[in-house]
Amino acid sequence: MDRNEILTRYNSILDNVRKIKQKYNIDYDINIVAVSKYSSIETIKEFLSLDLDLPLAESKAQSLRDRAAEISNIKNNVKWHFIGRIQSNKVKYIVRYADLIQSVDSIEIAECVNKEAVKNNKIQDILLQFNISDEEQKGGFSINNYIDVYNTITQFSNISIKGLMGIGRDTEDLSIIENEFETLNKIYKDINSKYNNPLSILSMGMSSDYELAIKHGSNMLRIGSSFLGYS
Ligand SMILES: *Cc1c(COP(=O)(O)O)cnc(C)c1O
Repeated sequence: MDRNEILTRYNSILDNVRKIKQKYNIDYDINIVAVSKYSSIETIKEFLSLDLDLPLAESKAQSLRDRAAEISNIKNNVKWHFIGRIQSNKVKYIVRYADLIQSVDSIEIAECVNKEAVKNNKIQDILLQFNISDEEQKGGFSINNYIDVYNTITQFSNISIKGLMGIGRDTEDLSIIENEFETLNKIYKDINSKYNNPLSILSMGMSSDYELAIKHGSNMLRIGSSFLGYS
């Protein structure tokens, strides 16, 4: 995909987000993450030539490592997020390259991330991923004991919890998706009210459901197919 097409897509997303914010009377910023997992490295380079200053996101540790390493040779200060399932033996690549790990989904993985962050002398920013759709195949903490999860992971020396992430169910039934997003929004607000506002990121919404996510409080959208697409 060339830079003109990418820019056209970006402007159309921005325009939609602007309209949605108006519709729901939202005045805070909503950040967009460009999910590059379906895109070629050429498309990523075209995207970076636009200097839009958006983070990129990958869902496989090796892709993050390979792409972040290659891009670092041609451009500084590119921010990478990790959004995929985390395997403990690949945590080293993720901690090395990710500015934000959005998909920390178990205490064990948080421990591994912390250990690796200590080794790298880094404070690793993370989001806690919750399994809001309660589907087996999806990662995420159960929503039932979020206070315990939060309390345990805040104690890790080299992890900083910036917010929460959730993936809406893949269904035509919008009310189900809305319920899931609202559940995560409530958890986000509850943690912020109990602990003096430690969280600033509520990451919900992808290409097909970002309007509903914004409606229910999201301030970070992870957009793949309708932005950098499949080429
Ligand atoms: C792939 C992916 C996205 C982007 O999905 P699109 O529907 O292509 O926008 C967002 N979040 C996560 C966790 C993903 O794995």
